[in-house]
Amino acid sequence: MFSKFSLRHLSGKPCCAAEVRGSSAYPDLMGKVSFYNACGGSVVLAEVCGLPAPCNVFAMHIHSGTCTGNESDPFADSGTHLNLKGTEHPFHTGDLPPLFSNNGYAWYAVYTSRFKPWDVKGCSVIIHANPDDFMTQPSGNAGEKIACGRIF
Ligand SMILES: [Zn+2]
Repeated sequence: MFSKFSLRHLSGKPCCAAEVRGSSAYPDLMGKVSFYNACGGSVVLAEVCGLPAPCNVFAMHIHSGTCTGNESDPFADSGTHLNLKGTEHPFHTGDLPPLFSNNGYAWYAVYTSRFKPWDVKGCSVIIHANPDDFMTQPSGNAGEKIACGRIF
């Protein structure tokens, strides 16, 4: 059987990773998103807990800015979706499949050829309150930014 990818790609240290923390409204929300160099792209490994109920699908994107902001939008400075090729949503470099929560806990791994791990260093992982509709411009109508982590 054809197999391009194996779990050996996930052994050892990731190239870079983000420690994700909820905003002050979501103090229990935390997680780690790691980026591994694999097969000409990246494997994104995410583990998050403390996701709020009742919504159980959460958009997750890589934004080009940082995790600072203001009172009304704690992650306002995260900016727009990382977009290295000038494409529309959901074809942005930083667009990822959503997190599926299991009573607040989510784990996933996905392969993408849209970026290498070092392309996203210094950017930020954002988790939104709602699912991504994969249509609405520029960000999938995913709602409030509830958690953020800078990628180092
Ligand atoms: Zn996007």
